[in-house]
Amino acid sequence: MSRLPGRVVYDAETIERRVRGLAEEIACAYGADDRLLLLGVLKGSFVFLADLVRALEIPVQVDFLVVSSYGDAMVSSGEVRFEYLARAPLAGRSILLVEDIVDTGRTLDQVVPLLLERGARSVEICALLHKRRASSRYEPRFVGFEAPDDFLVGYGLDHAEDFRQLPYVASL
Ligand code: 5GP
Ligand code: MG
Repeated sequence: MSRLPGRVVYDAETIERRVRGLAEEIACAYGADDRLLLLGVLKGSFVFLADLVRALEIPVQVDFLVVSSYGDAMVSSGEVRFEYLARAPLAGRSILLVEDIVDTGRTLDQVVPLLLERGARSVEICALLHKRRASSRYEPRFVGFEAPDDFLVGYGLDHAEDFRQLPYVASL
């Protein structure tokens, strides 16, 4: 790994507790009839999504989408490109987009309309971390933590592909 992560911001136990709480909030908001489709935004959401689905007590399906925006930089380039979007038909589906972190909200502003265009019945957002640096048109309905405006790594979040494996979230 290129640089050692600095201060621990959310330790593994804190994250585990909050993920269980989020799973309860989500299970209350949806019923089994919703056939909820969780769409994980790769790669950053993979650890969070894996823990979240195992804590969820309603049946869900899981797929992914891949967008690229950051490259190796620590600031958002503001441009989002789709590299993969779930092949399953989205028409009529209740979709919960699962994000590692919402920063400026630009990713959501581009992803959500596309899902609606494909006929999704509803699109809600679940973000482990929310920085609230800019107002997006789409507010995450389920938020794990209101995050500080630091560059965070671990629990799926990377810096130039390093640190995703850390079981905690740290600030570089
Ligand atoms: P937004 O489009 O909301 O500005 O940015 C969302 C994406 O930027 C996140 O999904 C994530 O990939 C990346 N990002 C934003 N802040 C951070 C951060 O503190 N750490 C890491 N590793 N990625 C971040
Ligand atoms: Mg991301």
